[in-house]
Amino acid sequence: MHDKQLPLLDLTWHDDRLTSISVGNKRWHHAYDVDWCDRDQCYYYHLSGCGPWGGDREPSLKGVPAGMQTASDLIRRFDMVHRQIVYCQICDDTLPDDSPCVHVQWDDAVGDFVGPGIV
Ligand SMILES: [Zn+2]
Repeated sequence: MHDKQLPLLDLTWHDDRLTSISVGNKRWHHAYDVDWCDRDQCYYYHLSGCGPWGGDREPSLKGVPAGMQTASDLIRRFDMVHRQIVYCQICDDTLPDDSPCVHVQWDDAVGDFVGPGIV
């Protein structure tokens, strides 16, 4: 079973935007980071990690739309796109790493994004 099909455990929101999704069970979870892109008007998401679920932390499904039970349900509901993202401080936006803005370029020599948009 793909991990996106596991039951939702926890969502986090910031200013009415979804910022992360955790799926799994109370012993083990997978977490997805979710970033809203103003330019593209969509959410980008990527797997950010997995590990034991913290102690007696209670799952919180605050804000989960009716009928949503897995990460896949949310991804479909919000038309999320799977992509690594890079933040540009000039645009003040999170952008997909395969098509960022003019302030951010990938540099093979550095092995990271460089440019005036990078903090
Ligand atoms: Zn920019």
